[in-house]
Amino acid sequence: MKKFVLFLFVLMTLVSCQKQQKEQKEQKEPGYIVQVALGHWKPTQYTPEQIIGRLDTVTQLIPVEKVVIGWSLDMDLYRKVGEYLHSKGIRMMLWLPLFAETEQVCDNSPAVDLWGRTPANYDQAAANAFRFNCPSDSSNLANVLAIYDRMFSKIGFDGVFLDRVRTQSFVCGVGGVLSCGCPLCVKRFAAEGVDIEKVKSEYESKGDAFFSVSGYNPADGFIFENPLAASFFKAKSRIVSSSVVAIVDSLHSRNLEVGLDLYAPFMAPFVGQDYAILAKHADFIKPMLYRQTNAPAGMGYEYELLRKTLPGATGYPEIKMDVDFLNSQLDAMEPYSCGKYPGIEINYHEEYAPTTPEYVSESLTAVKNHGFDGAVLSWNIMEVPLSHLEALKQ
Ligand SMILES: [Zn+2]
Repeated sequence: MKKFVLFLFVLMTLVSCQKQQKEQKEQKEPGYIVQVALGHWKPTQYTPEQIIGRLDTVTQLIPVEKVVIGWSLDMDLYRKVGEYLHSKGIRMMLWLPLFAETEQVCDNSPAVDLWGRTPANYDQAAANAFRFNCPSDSSNLANVLAIYDRMFSKIGFDGVFLDRVRTQSFVCGVGGVLSCGCPLCVKRFAAEGVDIEKVKSEYESKGDAFFSVSGYNPADGFIFENPLAASFFKAKSRIVSSSVVAIVDSLHSRNLEVGLDLYAPFMAPFVGQDYAILAKHADFIKPMLYRQTNAPAGMGYEYELLRKTLPGATGYPEIKMDVDFLNSQLDAMEPYSCGKYPGIEINYHEEYAPTTPEYVSESLTAVKNHGFDGAVLSWNIMEVPLSHLEALKQ
């Protein structure tokens, strides 16, 4: 009898453990955020029916939580897509640039390098050339909120996904990274204990070696040898990120959910992104963990540009964009308590994004193994081959 009771007890415990494990596993099933790139303030090439048709295909394959869509000025399109999404219980977020690309719709003051020069645009000749704006000018911040209030507040968006929450990267050379040096920013640097005149003369005398690092680890990032370089990048991240969170808080006061598009943790300090400050305010973060993107924000692309731009800087290791490196960047996101949706590029372009179904599946498995809230499928669902969508059905 005793043996039977013991047997029953063990059996019940086992069943209960399995149930718990199953529930935990079910809880961890990732949700997806899908991006629809409409183009930049111009009329889009897609009809609402095409977008709805594509989203319908995707929602039949995977659970979609939110759709990030922007930023053309076709209000009727947003209304139609929004109606469809809300009927499916999916949230619609406006994709909106913060510190760049707004000069076409409002009058902003540009970011300048520490010598007061406007850094070169990314690919001047390209149709999508754009410049960055000063992160400290309060009228720049007010303008972005005014764009939302004036153009988008009546459309029925559930939130805003902020892009370009940064300064320029090495895409615009050293001057893009050593920015913003306008009088307003110089004052903010001084308040952070950094004398910009000293930073300038240090860079002028040391050259590339100003950027040399003594080591790298995923948790702390690059460790600058030069204390002035270390304090400059720390202060820059605090300045840019605190301006970003002022916008995040203002959007929250409008009852909007806010997500942020971020550079991968290892490159974030160069563009002024302090994950700790940003993650405290945002509802979710989307680090762009693109390993196959040969364009700005691609991890390998940006890192190789850094190394090419600074041949005299020492200590930067060779980094292979393999799944181990992806895991190291996912590990670096671990400490933050906001929603975590790493961005994986799933669209295909022969030159800029030579992705494959295997690559999509490998990246997604790594994200799932970290047990995060989900993933952002970047960066334009309209251009994703069906074979890549099939790879998401794991
Ligand atoms: Zn400035």
